[in-house]
Amino acid sequence: MTRLILLGPPGAGKGTQAQTLAHQCNIPHISTGEILRQAMRERSPLGIKAQSYVDRGELVPDQLVLDMMEERLSQADTKSGWILDGFPRNVSQARFLDELLQKLAEDNVGVVNLEVPDDVLIDRLKGRGRQDDTEEVIRRRLEVYREQTAPLINFYSDRQQLVSVNGNQSLEEVSAELKRRCNLK
Ligand code: AMP
Repeated sequence: MTRLILLGPPGAGKGTQAQTLAHQCNIPHISTGEILRQAMRERSPLGIKAQSYVDRGELVPDQLVLDMMEERLSQADTKSGWILDGFPRNVSQARFLDELLQKLAEDNVGVVNLEVPDDVLIDRLKGRGRQDDTEEVIRRRLEVYREQTAPLINFYSDRQQLVSVNGNQSLEEVSAELKRRCNLK
């Protein structure tokens, strides 16, 4: 059973790694950014509320994301495991996730921190071409990461749940290191 949270700054390769692993383990890859982008494309009530935050590189308010994740993690396909990419993004989301997993009786969650130097992140993000990948928004997303998301590294390492993986390697090397460190086949 694989239940994995991928942490790391924007551009660290969480999405790519999550996608590869989820495919190999045949479990859902749950990306909050992807769910929000889909909602924005559909102009659903969630998408309309989220749009201005995503456009500015700010976090979407917790309540919206928490409701969305409670619903997603209660769906049947999550019973065989999951890989979370982009959630939790701050300590209150992490606390909410703890409670939710307790309620769902899901334990044994691994947390991986993908480490990548800042200059590499910026080059990668600029090359990606997503709508929120303009220079100003990239800068803000990195700031938001440092202020709100990076504290999760201590949050999880204090509980001996964190594994750090060098994300500044080829896709294949990162994937192999991640699998080895998390005892995945
Ligand atoms: P990502 O695809 O993970 O880079 O996320 C893109 C954008 O979606 C972020 O810059 C935030 O605006 C929003 N977002 C994604 N995940 C979360 C989350 N867990 N909490 C709040 N906002 C989020």
